[in-house]
Amino acid sequence: QNQPKALEPSRYWHTFSDMNVVSKGPKFVVARAEGAWLWDEAGDRFLDGTSSLWYCNVGHGRVEIAEAVYKQMTSLDAFATYGDFANVPALALSERIGAHAPVADARVVLTCGGGESIDSAAKIARQYWSVRGRPEKVHFITRTGGYHGLNGIGTSLIGMERFQAGYGPLLADTSVVPHDSLEALEAEILRIGPENVAAFFAEPVIGSGGVHAPVDGYFAGVSELCKQYGILFIVDSVICAFGRLGNWFGIERFGVTPDMIVFAKGVSSGYLPLGGIVVSGEIAEPFWNEPGNPLHHGTTYAGHPTACAAALANLDILEREDLFTVALEVEAWLDYALRPLADHPLVREVRSGTGVMAAVEFTPEALASGITSAEVFTECRARGVVLRAVPTGLLVSPPLITTWEQIDHLVSTLRYGLDAVA
Ligand code: PLP
Repeated sequence: QNQPKALEPSRYWHTFSDMNVVSKGPKFVVARAEGAWLWDEAGDRFLDGTSSLWYCNVGHGRVEIAEAVYKQMTSLDAFATYGDFANVPALALSERIGAHAPVADARVVLTCGGGESIDSAAKIARQYWSVRGRPEKVHFITRTGGYHGLNGIGTSLIGMERFQAGYGPLLADTSVVPHDSLEALEAEILRIGPENVAAFFAEPVIGSGGVHAPVDGYFAGVSELCKQYGILFIVDSVICAFGRLGNWFGIERFGVTPDMIVFAKGVSSGYLPLGGIVVSGEIAEPFWNEPGNPLHHGTTYAGHPTACAAALANLDILEREDLFTVALEVEAWLDYALRPLADHPLVREVRSGTGVMAAVEFTPEALASGITSAEVFTECRARGVVLRAVPTGLLVSPPLITTWEQIDHLVSTLRYGLDAVA
């Protein structure tokens, strides 16, 4: 067999990870996956409690997506979309996404992932203001706990400082405000001067930063403030779109219409890398209808036909199986099952009930005593459930097809993991 053995030294560099630890221990080699289950090389089974990294919305092993990819690759593998070159899957996907997005007169830019889309959205915002004769509008405001990928601009936008250390000067014109305060947002806009602010970025529900749903009326207030001060409102729905919040783009849940929506992950359920930006007709106007304003930005693989074919097959599944409705049910199960953990001595708070996503946050005392989420994660994985450890606790975001029995298994294993380290 050519399969690498888990304990063999490897050149593979795990990003986000401490290789001083990871390179010295056994690897967890995922060998196979189907539905909400994973199998390792030894044939042991694990529940995927995180949809991989928040993306496998339709679950693993969908042969229909593989067939669509095969069919596309064996007719047109790829051809770039610069100039007037197009391909059928890229056009079809843009129509479908644009038709469902809560963005007026939508246009769609395609990319290969979330972080790339964030950087693209930021550049579209700045170039928009520049061609509108407002080149001084360059400042970006984001939120505490906001995660917008780790590309060049995204690294500057992030509301989690641990991702910024060691990279030297970042983009100077950015600031972070508390995630739930309209007052703080308005004060920051006034401090910077609205004439200098290009855009405000927000996730509908903050994901990696700890699953924080907005307080009531927050996004209506954001939308008002952005309109009042002439600032673009850019929604980062990389996690929240394509069913995670029970609808197309997540932000519908809060009844507002942004200027741009960034998406990735669930658009293809991660079967192939894909992301993009929905841009309102108003923002697209100078680029589309005024001479001499091409967007000076793009990537080789924008509109890759095979990735788009995977996404179209994924959207077929989401629609045919009515997974947005199913997601609302899974959201309710997850909330119901997780709530009682709030009484656990290690737990400060359970945040659940808005989307198929939740956080179990540890008490400051537990963290101060040296208990780590990594230990709980390890206990749970040893018992067959994969969760995500962040410094303050654990995050849960199973596929939208997860059953009640699987949710029950996930939560009882999580309780076991907490008990084991308490
Ligand atoms: N935005 C949000 C809200 C995310 O959660 C992520 C990834 O987790 C990104 C952007 C970055 O996406 P990618 O990792 O595909 O660059």
